[in-house]
Amino acid sequence: MSADPLSIARDLLRCRSVTPAEGGALKYLEGVLKSAGFEVHHLAFSEPGEDLVENLYARIGTQAPNLVFAGHTDVVPPGDEKAWTHPPFAGENDGTELYGRGAVDMKGGLACALAAVLDHLAARGGKPNGSISFLITGDEEGIAINGTPKLLKWAAEHGEKFDHCILGEPSNIEALGDTIKIGRRGSLNGHLIVSGKQGHVAYPERADNPIRGLVTLIGALQAEPLDNGTEHFPPSHLEFTTVDIGNKTVNLIPGQARARFNIRFNDTHTLDSLKALMTQRATKAAGGKIRFAFEWEPSNAGVFVIQPGPFTDMVTAAIEEVTARKPHLSTSGGTSDARFIAAHCPVVEFGLVGQTMHAVDERVPIADLRALTTIYRKIIDRYFG
Ligand SMILES: [Zn+2]
Repeated sequence: MSADPLSIARDLLRCRSVTPAEGGALKYLEGVLKSAGFEVHHLAFSEPGEDLVENLYARIGTQAPNLVFAGHTDVVPPGDEKAWTHPPFAGENDGTELYGRGAVDMKGGLACALAAVLDHLAARGGKPNGSISFLITGDEEGIAINGTPKLLKWAAEHGEKFDHCILGEPSNIEALGDTIKIGRRGSLNGHLIVSGKQGHVAYPERADNPIRGLVTLIGALQAEPLDNGTEHFPPSHLEFTTVDIGNKTVNLIPGQARARFNIRFNDTHTLDSLKALMTQRATKAAGGKIRFAFEWEPSNAGVFVIQPGPFTDMVTAAIEEVTARKPHLSTSGGTSDARFIAAHCPVVEFGLVGQTMHAVDERVPIADLRALTTIYRKIIDRYFG
């Protein structure tokens, strides 16, 4: 099997694995990993009313430490395929760049990890000095219910232990080597509901307009910062996204008013402490006069961060040697599957450059594929060194 990241990425891009379709991508990985001596588990998870999702866990070696490469083979839809310079599922390159949906997010990153691992194994007579695993989901771009969380649960139930994980999401902003992600903010969606008493606008004394109370509480919840930021995170942030009364009648005072909001939060808070803080602030502002309630949408997006140390130092050094850039240790951006993995072992996110992800003409410089493979190879060599 060739350990060329370009040909592996090309083969993966040719699989039409738009979430939640498997598209042959996991089967391809399974074949490559099996022929390299990995024990491969191809796992399908489902839940009533949700799509069946295929996932893969593969491991070579039985000893600790177990270094895990995590990622996903699913991609977002290509949009208008005619708008692409090269077709989104053809795996074509123009000699400089490889085009296709998933080129950077994240089949390209997976191809680099696989090539680096195959090279490392070939240089070590086929066996690692410990264990190397791949934890790959087909459901990252979707609702992430039947993907990584269930895969991790399965692994824990089967006695699998992880020591460190590299998630190959496109972490870099402008150039390969500029950013490693060492954590992510949490995300919480809530509804604020204020109840009043419906009535005729001409007789306000007989009614109780909930809009007044809602406006007061919206103001109060945003009046003070949630915190001042922490060592690795910016301040937490609350944003109202909609206010809904739904009243079509000109002379009617409504009985209820609702608003929806999202909070992106740092490691000052947990999901539970944040809910308590919101309730406390609203209670104070309501002063016993406004009848309100919160409804919280279920969230599996808690905050996490790994403290910089020997592992992040090793990753940083490998990146610097290959790219001559000193990566910024960042916690920016939305959520990723790293939030689930972080409960099992330290995880860093480092992959390709994210510029064209989810866009028409998603593409990756072939030079980046080769450089990322070299970086991963250095990390693996040193990890087991
Ligand atoms: Zn991704």
